[in-house]
Amino acid sequence: MKERLDVFFETLTEEPKDYIDRLEASALQNGEPVVCRPARALLKYLLRTKKPERVLEIGTAVGYSALFMKEYLPRSAAITTIEKVPARIEQASDNFARYDEHNQIRLIGGDAREILPELSAAGNCYDFIFMDAAKGQYINFLPDVLTMLNAGGVLMSDNILHGGDILQSRYAVTRRDRTIHSRMRQYLKTISSHPCLETICLPVGDGVALSTKIKTEGLMAHEETGDTGTGK
Ligand code: SAM
Repeated sequence: MKERLDVFFETLTEEPKDYIDRLEASALQNGEPVVCRPARALLKYLLRTKKPERVLEIGTAVGYSALFMKEYLPRSAAITTIEKVPARIEQASDNFARYDEHNQIRLIGGDAREILPELSAAGNCYDFIFMDAAKGQYINFLPDVLTMLNAGGVLMSDNILHGGDILQSRYAVTRRDRTIHSRMRQYLKTISSHPCLETICLPVGDGVALSTKIKTEGLMAHEETGDTGTGK
């Protein structure tokens, strides 16, 4: 049923530029990760309606979603995207050199666990943050992400269902996936109950959480008391 729905909804969505679908096909052929089409449609909807000027993406892979986002943002908007795997950084750089004709995308190579605190300490702020990296790390990225998200800004967290595992009891998932399972559950609980966020979890693709920063007061107080809202 869900697949039929996705296929049907896809017939209603506007086709992106040809190069976007070519990039998607070649990434999939090479086993590189790309945002799935239902989540891509939601991304486009949010960018077109919110019109963010400053976008942060955590998890570039080969640059497919950054280029997709660029197509639906004004020319004045800027995207910063972070990737840690060297081969992907190289491929993403090539793709940006080819398709980002107005240099709207800035790629930062390195581990987001180190880069996010640096961006935050430098006073960077974003209107839209696309969290699409290692699922077990979302909870660790959250304090800096929340600091950098502007009031009224949106955090989109992708793959929150982790292929459906998150719905299962901890003991029904393989031992290897148990850490991701508990960290993702902790993440979802945190963003759903955080006083500065209004969050909705949607069964789009592999699950997407949308969180809007509804207020900033309290965020610093949480940080000062050591309670960053991450439950740590
Ligand atoms: N957003 C991409 C797209 O749709 O085209 C797909 C991103 S893929 C799901 C996740 C990416 O995050 C991988 O390329 C992975 O190497 C990267 N990643 C995972 N953990 C990371 C970290 N701690 N810092 C930076 N990149 C990370």
